[in-house]
Amino acid sequence: MRKTGYHEITGTICCISGLRVGGSDELLQIGGTDLTCIKHPVTLKPYIPGSSIKGKMRSELEQKAGKFGGRDQNEPCGCAQTDCLVCRVFGPHKKARHDLGPSRIVVRDAQCREGGETELKSENVIDRKTGTAMHPRKIERVVAGSKFSLRIGIHVWDFDDSAQWNGKSGGDALVEFVKDGLRALRQTGIGSGISKGSGEIEFEDLKLDGQSLAL
Ligand SMILES: [Zn+2]
Repeated sequence: MRKTGYHEITGTICCISGLRVGGSDELLQIGGTDLTCIKHPVTLKPYIPGSSIKGKMRSELEQKAGKFGGRDQNEPCGCAQTDCLVCRVFGPHKKARHDLGPSRIVVRDAQCREGGETELKSENVIDRKTGTAMHPRKIERVVAGSKFSLRIGIHVWDFDDSAQWNGKSGGDALVEFVKDGLRALRQTGIGSGISKGSGEIEFEDLKLDGQSLAL
């Protein structure tokens, strides 16, 4: 097997609403401590981990490809079938032995370019019978208007010739698949608390291999 190509998507992630990265609703304990943002250890500026962007894209693309909540329900797709672009691009989940080659996508940490200040947002659960607020807590969010750099690498191998997506084939199919992932992020959002209004984003200055890219 031989690597035959490399594509790079770059651009800017603009926060339309406040953004929560690092907190997790699932880990919340009643009366627990404030949920804080992930910050760069030296600059103390918040950043969006590449794994966070990649994980959300994967989950959205599994839904588009009909691979969501497969055999193991809440686990990511690990079918390792050659016609599964999720497994080809992101790697089959928890499967060490397969014939798909290395993961094709590399998502860099998105560093803060503008803004990056944080705010504390109060959240609570309203008791539907009494109307009183229960379990009040404060979560830290990156303020709306902040901007982060986006950088995604897509590695193409010779045996990707068989890949198909949206009428494209080969390396173009992989790029189209990742573009669909970005469209899904624009429609849903990133980070946690999306259903509570956090994480709405837009992209600016998207480029594919240095050329202007429209989603
Ligand atoms: Zn799969």
